[in-house]
Amino acid sequence: MTWLLLLSLPPLAGALAYGRAPLFAWLWAGLAWLAAMGWAAGWAVGWTLLAMAVLAAVLGVFMHDGLRRQRVTAPILKAFRGALPAMSQTERDALEAGTVWWEGELFAGRPDWNKLGAYPWPKLSAEEQAFLDNETEALCRLTNDWACTQQQDMPAEVWQYIKDKGFLGMIIPREYGGKGFSAYAHSQVITKLSTRSSAPAVTVMVPNSLGPAELLLHYGTPEQKQHYLPGLARGREIPAFALTSPWAGSDAASIPDAGVVCKGEWNGEEVLGMRVSFDKRYITLAPVCTVFGLAFRLYDPERLLGGDEDLGITCALVPHDHPGVDIGNRHFPLNAVWMNGPVRGKDVFMPLDFIIGGPRMAGQGWRMLMECLAAGRSISLPGSNTGMQKLTARAVGAYARVRYQFKTAIGRFEGVEEALTRIGANTYLCDAARVMTAGAIDLGEKPSVVSAIVKYHVTERARQVVNDGMDVIGGKGICLGPQNFLGRAYQQIPVGITVEGANILTRSLILFGQGAIRCHPYVLDEMHSAQKNDLEAFDKALWGHVGFTVSNAARAVAMGLTGSHFVKVPADVAPETRRYYQQLTRFSAAFAFISDISMGTLGGALKRKEKLSARLGDILSLMYLATATLKRYEAEGRQAADAPLMHWAIWDCMFRIQLAFEGVIANFPNKLFAFLLRRLVVFPLGRPYVVPSDKLGHQVAALLIEPSATRDRLTADVYLPEDIEEPVGALEAALAATIAAEPVEAKLRQLQRDGRFAPGLMTGGDVDEVWRRAREAGVISDEEFRLVERRNMLRNKVIRVDDFPYDFGLRAALEEAPRSAPALKVAA
Ligand SMILES: Cc1cc2nc3c(=O)[nH]c(=O)nc-3n(C[C@H](O)[C@H](O)[C@H](O)COP(=O)(O)OP(=O)(O)OC[C@H]3O[C@@H](n4cnc5c(N)ncnc54)[C@H](O)[C@@H]3O)c2cc1C
Repeated sequence: MTWLLLLSLPPLAGALAYGRAPLFAWLWAGLAWLAAMGWAAGWAVGWTLLAMAVLAAVLGVFMHDGLRRQRVTAPILKAFRGALPAMSQTERDALEAGTVWWEGELFAGRPDWNKLGAYPWPKLSAEEQAFLDNETEALCRLTNDWACTQQQDMPAEVWQYIKDKGFLGMIIPREYGGKGFSAYAHSQVITKLSTRSSAPAVTVMVPNSLGPAELLLHYGTPEQKQHYLPGLARGREIPAFALTSPWAGSDAASIPDAGVVCKGEWNGEEVLGMRVSFDKRYITLAPVCTVFGLAFRLYDPERLLGGDEDLGITCALVPHDHPGVDIGNRHFPLNAVWMNGPVRGKDVFMPLDFIIGGPRMAGQGWRMLMECLAAGRSISLPGSNTGMQKLTARAVGAYARVRYQFKTAIGRFEGVEEALTRIGANTYLCDAARVMTAGAIDLGEKPSVVSAIVKYHVTERARQVVNDGMDVIGGKGICLGPQNFLGRAYQQIPVGITVEGANILTRSLILFGQGAIRCHPYVLDEMHSAQKNDLEAFDKALWGHVGFTVSNAARAVAMGLTGSHFVKVPADVAPETRRYYQQLTRFSAAFAFISDISMGTLGGALKRKEKLSARLGDILSLMYLATATLKRYEAEGRQAADAPLMHWAIWDCMFRIQLAFEGVIANFPNKLFAFLLRRLVVFPLGRPYVVPSDKLGHQVAALLIEPSATRDRLTADVYLPEDIEEPVGALEAALAATIAAEPVEAKLRQLQRDGRFAPGLMTGGDVDEVWRRAREAGVISDEEFRLVERRNMLRNKVIRVDDFPYDFGLRAALEEAPRSAPALKVAA
């Protein structure tokens, strides 16, 4: 009996913790257990009563608000305040910016799957759909990436089309002449353009992302809005935004660019203004902009504005031809056609009215930037990089069926299949995350952590997908020219990795670093109340936090021991996905617990433990990506034919989640915690996931090399030229022709194997000779020959690469140069 009671203690405590039972329930359960134990073990009544009294006294302290606060919470608050790392205003602005959305559920250990199911899946309005089908399609048709590359600019008619059709004003409301499109529509347009060329895609996405228009909309004065927004909407103004300096890239808050409040002359009058010196680089659209946003630190040593001496980072709008501004030179970012260059100025006087929002917003620049960052970061790079993935899935899949080696379509070799599988499943997953996140923006969210998750993971997976695509198409991808459909995307991939928060930094510092504070249900309250020395608020947050941690530990253990089979999942999810929801709930609880243990044991040092932080960020991100994939599968009507894409993508996420947990645990500084975490909380019965199976991978790869509704859904909105002189147009036609000719190919092979047809020596150096001989021998019909002939003609187009005069025609061009070259300035 005594043993039974002792053994019942952990499950009893676990059950109370699991259900987050209130303290009085712990008290009554504890008293009852002690009474039973005293009776069973034959303790003296006095001892039993004493034990019960001690328990009641300890729990009583915790149950009495006043006693608990004074005796327990106050010393903890004192220690906490001592350990709280100093935080600058810029760090605070960055941490507190934006909103918490679905990722908050995943962080807190108990995702509400009904909530996920209830989020609307974004849809285009009729007008938005028409813009995608007509204007965007037309812009794709107008753009010839190779021709743009040769000229290092888009032709004037393409620029004009972009401006005239309102591409630059998609986020600007109609009242100012803009399109007032949803975030989803904006994302769709960028995605489609990116399947054609990065030149229009980047040119369109930058003005619609974080920059003058977005900042004006949120913070501009009515006069500034009226002055700039109609011009920005109609393309009369081209914007850029200049934050990065040679000395401050990732650490953008440390920009040395400075302005001093002073008096000066403006429009013939003496006015209060700023004398600003700045040296910015990498600024997209700067060489062609008509107005640029400028971030600098504003000082007011003479207190002319009546505030502090160091006012902080300030954002101003500066016309490109403002006296003293040096603009127009170009950088050459990996052969990009879109414009990018430096912006400089020394002691440039500008009136205070240039500050976005006017003088009252002096010093508010960093907060403004952080608050607006989430929307653009959720759309631009996720859109453009998903576009590149869709193009790869469509075109490389076709190529893998058209290109034969060893008498077999290369897409049928297992090695190539592996790459095709990653291309297909990653594209499915990234598109899911892109669409779901754009939907969040349309719901009014500014999800700072989610925007970092999609930016990081979509660009990383795009790198993987495009690299895989390049491997599959071999030399065809390497030789640049008008026939190369992937090499230019390959060149542009590192740009997305570097901008809007370089990826290493984003993974190491932001995903978990910001996530832990923003998404955690108690940490931000603890920090705020500790900063204010508010004992009551700190007490509430602290004990809420303790209950949360204990509950998550109990839930993770229970779900780990039972394989999470009993976890409740909404009845209306697809039966084939139920286990994923259950396992994600389990991982979410384990993640919440391990996050708390990491923060609790490492404190401020966790910020420097970037590798641990990165792996924790991986877990949170992968859970987000997996849930987006599940959401997509449901939203698209549980397409059975698409299921392999969904299963592979989720299985891969789950496996990677496990690896990330393992990485955290294996490197946890406290070895005892590491042992308990692995054996008790996270993997009590071992790791449930292995890599996705080869059989499943084969099913995914097969979807890419054959026309189907699944392939169309996966690559929806890829620009598909009908002209077979275009490489993607030729691939589309060649895929159909290859499939049509395959039975003939198989027939001829069989005839040769059976010895019924021997073509003889092929001396013409022509791989198609065999078919002519087969027709002459009467073993294939005229109809069959025509099928093969068409296939061969298209295949030959597809596999050929471009060649050029040995000097690429440069000598002749240079001889012409003094008469015809535009007067481009050369950087000193
Ligand atoms: C093509 C292009 C277009 C751009 N467009 C604009 C624009 O329009 N406007 C604008 O203002 N800026 C623009 N940028 C600047 C861009 O945002 C910066 O390049 C970016 O912030 C990184 O700065 P950096 O290149 O100086 O790299 P660095 O800051 O020198 O970083 C180098 C590496 O160190 C890593 N790193 C840095 N700190 C940490 C850390 N604490 N932990 C872990 N890793 C770290 C980074 O992740 C990166 O991998 C553009 C850049 C490029 C290349």
